[in-house]
Amino acid sequence: MKAIGLVSGGIDSALAVWVMKQQGIEVIALHFLSPFWGKGETAKKMAQASGVTLREVEVGEDYFTMLKNPRYGYGTQMNPCIDCKIWMLRQAKAIMEAEGASFVFTGEVLGQRPKSQMRNTLRLIEKESGLAGFLVRPLSAKLLPPTVPEERGWIIRESLLDVSGRGRSKQLELAQAWGVQFFSPPAGGCLLTEPNFARRLRDLLRSGETWNRVNIELLKIGRHFRLTPSFKLIVGRNEEENERLKAFYHTGDLFLFPLGGKGPCALGRGIWNLELEKEAASLVARYVRSFQSEVVVGIRDQSGERTLTVHERMSESVVKRYML
Ligand code: SF4
Repeated sequence: MKAIGLVSGGIDSALAVWVMKQQGIEVIALHFLSPFWGKGETAKKMAQASGVTLREVEVGEDYFTMLKNPRYGYGTQMNPCIDCKIWMLRQAKAIMEAEGASFVFTGEVLGQRPKSQMRNTLRLIEKESGLAGFLVRPLSAKLLPPTVPEERGWIIRESLLDVSGRGRSKQLELAQAWGVQFFSPPAGGCLLTEPNFARRLRDLLRSGETWNRVNIELLKIGRHFRLTPSFKLIVGRNEEENERLKAFYHTGDLFLFPLGGKGPCALGRGIWNLELEKEAASLVARYVRSFQSEVVVGIRDQSGERTLTVHERMSESVVKRYML
């Protein structure tokens, strides 16, 4: 008997894999890769340690389309948890069918999250994913109606668990008792739930800029400023970010760099004119520590390179007004 298990790299899915393995189920661990969460290193280690096959799947355009307009709405930030789970489970169902597996399981815990893990929502997710009856939540199974794999005796219901609620102490106890290793700390970083990142993502959505991986990666670095509805400036916070911004520059962008190398680089995207260029340079000058009476800012765009001498830095209050 083969099953597809969704693994996030967290403790719950690691325990779910362990429980299924104990029942003699051959597990294919399915981990989704995206710009919004980690690179799957923990999931890899967990799969290796548990002796299960890991399948990594990159989220595609259809995930981004869902994210822009989730049918069941967002959580506290830009996290469309219900739609996200439905999306993942639909992919899991397709893989289940292609692999000749018999069911799908997850590490979901009843009542752990206020919106997406309540009883009604778990039922909704199961139905909408097309997996009704074939989706097992081993950690809370005893608190949920029996699934087809339990009814048909493919897995033993009595050996499944009855964990519920937000606490993780029970899971930590089990992990220790069973020697389950390699899991990330709870709330291990979906950027869609982080207020700063969510604010930038909302801005990207409003701006009408293309939603591609590059633009999403850019949201993770630097300080972001929306100077006009159609022009954004990203200012590096350290050497590493300056280098990354340089690498992101391409034809059609504006690039600013204080001469003498003492200060941040900045990448401008969108539509700008000379006035805006000056404003961008005075914003960059705000972050030049050695600024005394002026700073010379190098400017590069598709028409070539030039310099601009900034005598007055942007005031703190204006900087705050533009900051995302
Ligand atoms: S926290 Fe992020 S990855 Fe997890 S279900 Fe919500 S949106 Fe999806």
